[in-house]
Amino acid sequence: MARLEDIIWDTVVIGAGIVGSFTAWQLQKLQSQVLLVDQFQLPHSRGSSAGLTRAVRKAYQEDFYCEMMEEAYKIWEQIEHEANVIINKKTGMLIIDKDAGNLTSIKSNLQQLIFPCTTLTEEELRTKFPGLKFDGHAGLIDIDAGVTDVQAALRTVQFLFRKNGGTICPETKVLKINPGRLVGIMTNKGNYQAKSVVITAGPWAAKLMEPLGLHLPLKPMAINVFYWKEKVPGAYSMASGFPVFADYNTMRLDTFVYGLPSSEYPNMMKMCLHVGPATDPDKRDLQIKEHIASDIKKLSEYIRGHFLHLEDNPSIIERCMYTNTPDGNFILDKHPKWDNIVIGAGFSGHGFKLAPVVGKILADVVTNRNPQYNMTHFRMSRFEHEEKSKL
Ligand SMILES: Cc1cc2nc3c(=O)[nH]c(=O)nc-3n(C[C@H](O)[C@H](O)[C@H](O)COP(=O)(O)OP(=O)(O)OC[C@H]3O[C@@H](n4cnc5c(N)ncnc54)[C@H](O)[C@@H]3O)c2cc1C
Repeated sequence: MARLEDIIWDTVVIGAGIVGSFTAWQLQKLQSQVLLVDQFQLPHSRGSSAGLTRAVRKAYQEDFYCEMMEEAYKIWEQIEHEANVIINKKTGMLIIDKDAGNLTSIKSNLQQLIFPCTTLTEEELRTKFPGLKFDGHAGLIDIDAGVTDVQAALRTVQFLFRKNGGTICPETKVLKINPGRLVGIMTNKGNYQAKSVVITAGPWAAKLMEPLGLHLPLKPMAINVFYWKEKVPGAYSMASGFPVFADYNTMRLDTFVYGLPSSEYPNMMKMCLHVGPATDPDKRDLQIKEHIASDIKKLSEYIRGHFLHLEDNPSIIERCMYTNTPDGNFILDKHPKWDNIVIGAGFSGHGFKLAPVVGKILADVVTNRNPQYNMTHFRMSRFEHEEKSKL
């Protein structure tokens, strides 16, 4: 068998989080030699795809994400079917807002694609969810939304990639990328050559791109993940039909509170802030420590005001990272100078659910096919005038 270093790879994908894993799987359908490398053992708890659950939803304020979710759901279902596993569990998602107009625009995005949804008046909200107290708010339910099992998702897509002939090398840290017709990929395990490279390195993306002359306004952010015990067991559980929850009114207050029904830890609802401090991904645990108390204070107050059956002190605290762009949209593009270096980055805290279709787009970009979506939202040139960017 040839040594990995002796193979001319069609593509090396750097980073086996959910985006890199789906990209490798999509590429393996189009190419014969695809290598997926990660700096850590797999699975690991250090990247953005860490943890146990994510929300999956079609409800988006931006119609282009709604459109992408249509295909994403199909691919999620396809891999569930192929591997005979359950990855997404349907719970619905309740979005509440004081601004009913905002909900109307999300509803119209959903209805355009014939996605099922219902709206709730303040009174209906109170009747349907007696454990919540939201005066002056209206609600929208995205009926197909639910909860994704993160570890099942990663395991399944990596399993299918391997089954189709792909190669995965964990504990292989890319130290340097040498651009050229054949790209050189220097790692701690050896040096590889590939016709193309995809950088899907999550919060570490900038560390790989900057030596390639790409200075993009990417901001890794440390996020505390809290679980809160139910005072009434099952009050907010998936089993009792409680949905994923998001308070869009708090988005305008710069806190953005969201929650997932209790399931992975019995009788504990996950409730978090969608913001956190800027961080270096290699130092995040020290940098986030001092924010725990202020996050708990904000969320405890919120819970006391709105979630009648939750304790107001968290029982479990975990950590994760976002990589934010200034506009919250992804970067899916080629390097402006070397078109065989492709970048998938800046998933801004909402990339998990879309990873199946993002992987397909990145595979199209690598193989010079036209992605079927409007790519202007995802080009790095949109940041040309940002202070931090230098393309
Ligand atoms: C708390 C939290 C809640 C979230 N909730 C949701 C949600 O409800 N719905 C949703 O859709 N999204 C959600 N997200 C966002 C989503 O999880 C991310 O957008 C997604 O996981 C990004 O995946 P990634 O593959 O880009 O990054 P990562 O998972 O970080 O993967 C990057 C990989 O690259 C590897 N790597 C980095 N540098 C190198 C190197 N030099 N050599 C080799 N390997 C390298 C890393 O080890 C890592 O495994 C949430 C994120 C967090 C943190």
